[in-house]
Amino acid sequence: MAVKTKKAVPIGRQAATKKSNTIKLKFDTSWTYAPAPESKSAATINKQYDLFINGEWQKPLSKKYFDTINPANEEKLSEVADANAADVDKAVKAARNAYEKTWKKMPAKERAKYIFRIARIMQEKARELAIIESLDGGKPIKESRDFDVPTAANHFFYYAGWADKLEYAFPNRTTEPLGVAAQIIPWNFPLLMAAWKIAPAIATGNTVVLKSAETTPLTALKLAEIIQEADLPPGVVNIITGAGATGAAMVNHPDVNKIAFTGSTDVGKIIQRSIAGTDKKATLELGGKAANIIFEDAAIDQAVEGVINGIFFNQGHVCCAGSRLYVQESVAKEVIRKLKDRLESLIVGDPMDKNTDIGAINSKSQLDIINKYIGIGKKEGAEMYQSSCRLPGKGFFCRPTLFTNVAQSNRIAQEEIFGPVLAILTFRTEDEVIEKANNSPYGLSAGVWTDKGSKIFNMTKRMKAGVVWANTFNKFDPTSPFGGYKESGFGREGGLHGLLPYLNLKS
Ligand code: ADP
Repeated sequence: MAVKTKKAVPIGRQAATKKSNTIKLKFDTSWTYAPAPESKSAATINKQYDLFINGEWQKPLSKKYFDTINPANEEKLSEVADANAADVDKAVKAARNAYEKTWKKMPAKERAKYIFRIARIMQEKARELAIIESLDGGKPIKESRDFDVPTAANHFFYYAGWADKLEYAFPNRTTEPLGVAAQIIPWNFPLLMAAWKIAPAIATGNTVVLKSAETTPLTALKLAEIIQEADLPPGVVNIITGAGATGAAMVNHPDVNKIAFTGSTDVGKIIQRSIAGTDKKATLELGGKAANIIFEDAAIDQAVEGVINGIFFNQGHVCCAGSRLYVQESVAKEVIRKLKDRLESLIVGDPMDKNTDIGAINSKSQLDIINKYIGIGKKEGAEMYQSSCRLPGKGFFCRPTLFTNVAQSNRIAQEEIFGPVLAILTFRTEDEVIEKANNSPYGLSAGVWTDKGSKIFNMTKRMKAGVVWANTFNKFDPTSPFGGYKESGFGREGGLHGLLPYLNLKS
């Protein structure tokens, strides 16, 4: 039997051909999947959205709206209200009123019923939510369908369960809600971030004003429709839209008791400065530059797939993305070869296609940032390798990219890029890699790939990261807390820990 390899073997593209009595493996890189687009007709998107305040849709006092587009084709999807300080004030007043008159007085088990109802309606509308998430944000439909939407619903289920059990969560302590929470979320997981923030806040008896990110407002507005359908008392959750100025008005509003923010470290710092000297509580979930570490004793194929999943799926638009890869020197050649092969087989393109691995970059400005970093990487002397895939003619797309020969001090190894760009470095010993991995202003997450349990325990103990995944990456569950060290922020979301930032614990 003659087996001839023409070039690297992209997974899933091997075709066996029979010629005389020999079987040859033919590697055809032009082989593609047939299109499998999700239908857009299962989703309803209004032409225009107002602000969801006090249980109803209210015209913005600003009288202003802005467009939200589909980043995969640059077409307008809808326009949403641009809330100004007066709109924010209206929303905060509605939240305060609902807090004092209704929500904090309601028996916890009754509050829980509303939260369960929201979760169930989210499940019923899961397909529509997934379609809207992919249209508005550019992420592949298989991500929104299989991860974002179910995990978002699960957060409501999970925290509904806690609502009437706080005495068990905090034994021998009395708990008291904080009041009105201003919640500001980013564009990478629009619905999931809304769920992360709203579910624990209302389960613990607080009321909410939530602002979605300017490029991805639509699923939060769908969630507002769901909240209306669930008959949640007016004002308990208010959902508004706008950009940075709206967020700043929320942060600076004197009647807000708690700020929950997920976004960039720069804005996190602005928020901390703004609330210094006030009694507002805050949780900040900021940037990251996660180290994924492969030891020579790891199951290499599994590790390679984990690295791919950690940085390339979802376009690298994940604050905990494994954007730095440390490979033990003895297996570096093999790992890099396998990563390059796998990069070639990733499907980049229409987010609505069920086969797509890497969808659209969320916005033109984010694509510019990513391209700037790719340029910086080249200038710094690192060696670039990109997939040879063809990119769609319209929309914001980026080839999955990796850099080898990266130095620890290079900007692509230190700064958050938030795109499908992987910096690969090598190491020899455990102590060396711990020092290198911890040598970052961030500390949100990390990954360790090894066959040895003792190594895992040593690494998890010494890594300065809020989450350390072992032989897996980017796994989330409503029951486990998430949050960072250093410039990645403070406070925890998820799990029992996620209740605490919304409560005063008394005696
Ligand atoms: P990214 O770089 O990921 O877009 P940002 O931190 O700029 O992250 O944005 C995250 C969220 O913070 C968005 O909802 C955005 O509108 C909001 N935001 C931006 N600037 C401010 C600010 N000065 N104060 C409060 N929120 C802000």
